[in-house]
Amino acid sequence: MKKKSDSTSTLICPCCRKEITPADAKRVLARSFLTWGDVRQKVAPELLQSARYQWACDACLHSGKAIMAEPDKQQYVDHPPFLAYFDLQKKCKTCGQDYIFSAKEQHYWYETLKFWVQSKPVACADCRRKKRQEKKMN
Ligand SMILES: [Zn+2]
Ligand SMILES: [Zn+2]
Repeated sequence: MKKKSDSTSTLICPCCRKEITPADAKRVLARSFLTWGDVRQKVAPELLQSARYQWACDACLHSGKAIMAEPDKQQYVDHPPFLAYFDLQKKCKTCGQDYIFSAKEQHYWYETLKFWVQSKPVACADCRRKKRQEKKMN
């Protein structure tokens, strides 16, 4: 059995699902801040345990498994922005297949196209392409 070293609960990286060290957690927090209206605020350590926050540990960022996000470029009001992007598995509502909503795609959606951070694709890339083509034909 592993002994808990201190009262702060352990942090699990949402990307690799590995427990991160306190030093690692400090670095994550040091680079994570949010802007709510005029208030620029650091992310509280306990918020990193919330499933609403998408962030990644140093190892994931260095290996390229995750890419750094820039909250300032995202559209968010009542939902936290992305602190990092990594591939997510989703189920397509049109064809029912599993597909990957990639880190790069998320970066493009939320920071270039400026979609709200709550918006998620409902269909896989193939189905979305088909739908666009159908629209064009009509
Ligand atoms: Zn990680
Ligand atoms: Zn599909």
